[in-house]
Amino acid sequence: MAKQQAFAEKVKKGTEEKGSRCPKCNTIRVPILYVQSVRSAHQSYRFSSQRVQVCKCNEKEIYA
Ligand SMILES: [Zn+2]
Repeated sequence: MAKQQAFAEKVKKGTEEKGSRCPKCNTIRVPILYVQSVRSAHQSYRFSSQRVQVCKCNEKEIYA
């Protein structure tokens, strides 16, 4: 019984450490690779990707 509880706490702790929690919306930020198509000066498109942390504050912009 005691061992099970210790395991549960360990798992919980691991989950908390995985992402940082946004103080505004209280949601764990999820790191994703955000890819945008960017028009270059020569009328061609290239892709720009960046890692962003997604929480409820910006998920609408990211997934739009
Ligand atoms: Zn947020």
